[in-house]
Amino acid sequence: MKRDSLNLIRFNLVFMGALLQANISHAELDAHVHGLSNLALAIEENVIEMEFSSPAINLVGFEHQATTQQDIEMIKRAKLKLQQYNELYTFIGARCSIESSSINVSNILDDNPKNSNKTHEDKHHHEHSHNDESDTHSEVIANYRFSCKNLTTLKSIKVSLFEYFSSIDKVNAMWVTDEGQGSVILDKGKHTIDFR
Ligand SMILES: [Zn+2]
Repeated sequence: MKRDSLNLIRFNLVFMGALLQANISHAELDAHVHGLSNLALAIEENVIEMEFSSPAINLVGFEHQATTQQDIEMIKRAKLKLQQYNELYTFIGARCSIESSSINVSNILDDNPKNSNKTHEDKHHHEHSHNDESDTHSEVIANYRFSCKNLTTLKSIKVSLFEYFSSIDKVNAMWVTDEGQGSVILDKGKHTIDFR
């Protein structure tokens, strides 16, 4: 059920962005744009299911498979930051506590050395205007599940990703609730998703 909601948001992300003629260019509606990260929220009953997805470069500064110890350190550091959910997401008007979380960095860090020949390079072949070190593009995905009290009075969620990851310029936030859905583009000047 919650999975379905998140899939719905993913689908709507592009559609609604276009519909709203938001402050992002058409190119940025593409799923993978450096500097742009996505936050999808499914808010149902007393649970908030959240999926943060981002080009890896926003979080660790590269998108290739980690090869050096320095690369691996960067990934560890980013993972630790993404696990600071209390710092990253502040719920205003409701009391929420984390139930589970998972940070998926498998696109840039292969936990299983046997898979080292497997490439992810064919995954994201978009037209990019930037000069990357190669054609490799990788995503990092973090999932959070919060259990909340008095969720009906949830006023807003403050998102502090910008303070933790200076390479994130914008966050395309989308949500669905029992009552409807909405979206907002967050940036360094606007950190809050307002629900009411
Ligand atoms: Zn990329």
